[in-house]
Amino acid sequence: MPLEIITVPCLEDNYAFILHAPLTGLTALVDAPEAAPIIAELDKRGWTLDFILLTHHHWDHVDGVPDLRAKYGPTVIGAEADAHRLPDLDMQVAHGSRFSLGNVEVSVSEVPGHTVGHIAFHIASVNALFTADSLMALGCGRLFEGTPAQMLDTMQMLATLPDATQVYSGHEYTATNAAFALTVDPNNTDLQARAKEIATARSQGAFTVPSSLLIEKKTNPFLRAHTSGIRAALDMPDATDLEVFTEVRLRRNEF
Ligand code: ZN
Ligand code: FE
Repeated sequence: MPLEIITVPCLEDNYAFILHAPLTGLTALVDAPEAAPIIAELDKRGWTLDFILLTHHHWDHVDGVPDLRAKYGPTVIGAEADAHRLPDLDMQVAHGSRFSLGNVEVSVSEVPGHTVGHIAFHIASVNALFTADSLMALGCGRLFEGTPAQMLDTMQMLATLPDATQVYSGHEYTATNAAFALTVDPNNTDLQARAKEIATARSQGAFTVPSSLLIEKKTNPFLRAHTSGIRAALDMPDATDLEVFTEVRLRRNEF
């Protein structure tokens, strides 16, 4: 196994992810909503923390950093563009940056929309993409800072990654996202089937993250502005993809 990935539920509905490379013994964390559940998972396995990767500056993704830094002294990595409003960074990265966690290569994409400095981390060797509040399971993050055009660009860029890519997003919002998605893509049979699976998973307390990029492309309305089904449901047959995407995002805000 080249990389173990542990999902750690934090706060109300956040996810952090612990990555551990058995070969080198190195451990990294993607986002730090709060320290306690992360420390508990590390303790359980006898791991310490060598790196923290931060996706964006929101408190529910960074508030655990001071305690984790004090306890483990990890290398903290985040976006150069947001260095002024992230916790202190030991390494600043930007679009196209590559770095390695021991023998594990990570590449960085800027994925603006939710915030302007949001980044995603891609580990191609294990088909893992850490998207936090950009591309989410059946959704995308709210546009607090960016424009619909920026988020649509972000979605289109991420959609070019391999179908087998596993998308690790930052929150358990999938059940609500499914209920909304059905309102704008009601005749999508893949979506109907996925909504049922999600309801079952949640009733058993299972996580719906990660999900494959393939299933996102088939069911996530924010990756499907170009499809006739959504255009028909919104009565926007001749609109541009951006107009459709903007309308879907607006309706999700009000859902
Ligand atoms: Zn956020
Ligand atoms: Fe968040």
